[in-house]
Amino acid sequence: MANRVALVTGGSRGIGRVICVELAKKGYDIVTCYSRGAEAAEETMSLCREYGVEAVALCADVSRQNDVTVLFSEIKERFGGVDVLVNNAGITKDNLILRMSEEDFDDVISINLKGAFLCSKEAAKQMLRKKSGRIINISSVVGIGGNAGQANYASSKAGMIGLAKSLAKELGGKGITVNVVAPGFIQTDMTAELSEDMKKYWEQQIPRKRAGSPEDVANAVCFLAASESDYITGQVLAVDGGMSM
Ligand code: NDP
Repeated sequence: MANRVALVTGGSRGIGRVICVELAKKGYDIVTCYSRGAEAAEETMSLCREYGVEAVALCADVSRQNDVTVLFSEIKERFGGVDVLVNNAGITKDNLILRMSEEDFDDVISINLKGAFLCSKEAAKQMLRKKSGRIINISSVVGIGGNAGQANYASSKAGMIGLAKSLAKELGGKGITVNVVAPGFIQTDMTAELSEDMKKYWEQQIPRKRAGSPEDVANAVCFLAASESDYITGQVLAVDGGMSM
């Protein structure tokens, strides 16, 4: 039997890379897309191939309709369609509201939220034909509770929750589940920019008293992608060491 196929957007590094590898370990063929990091994305694919699966990295900016259309037609041609979509690609452009430019607001919404919309729409077309599928949005605890200095990012991540719940209602009857993983403070390039004082402050606020790892997030994604999770849809699973309680 052919392997199931997972598309993880933004798999060149960080959480996306580890999600690719953990899904590969479970026997999924992997497709990822990146907008800049071709070499890094290829490294991720080599790590996946160590588990005997097919793994392909394609250049596609998730905020551009044309790139997303081409990405999904390549998946259809090579693999016959996608079974699991993980909307992971994301950026931050933090600033307090009075200093936040319109461009920085638009960029973050375009990549994080519109990207998830465009990919979910194309994935849904392919999943509807198979009458099964899994869509998993990587949101953030910031999308639940907000965060000073992240009005654009928090809006995009809250939007990803609304998007997932709406799609869960639209697609549930067709065998497709749609859920959200909301990571807390996870050690990646995105959080490496924070000062040591800020990192210590956040770690103190977390009941588990440690930052999360990309593996912590990937384990939750693998759980939601599995056939055993078929009766779970429209849910938000916080992977945050208790931070958002
Ligand atoms: P990184 O910055 O380490 O990686 C982001 C990934 O997204 C890269 O692979 C990048 O690839 C890709 N990407 C960025 N823009 C685009 C685009 N336009 N099209 C396609 N791919 C793109 O982030 P993390 O691994 O830390 O975060 C992954 C996800 O988890 C994000 O959605 C983030 O918001 C979320 N998250 C992270 C948390 C954390 O603490 N780290 C906490 C909560 C949520 P390239 O640069 O090659 O284009």
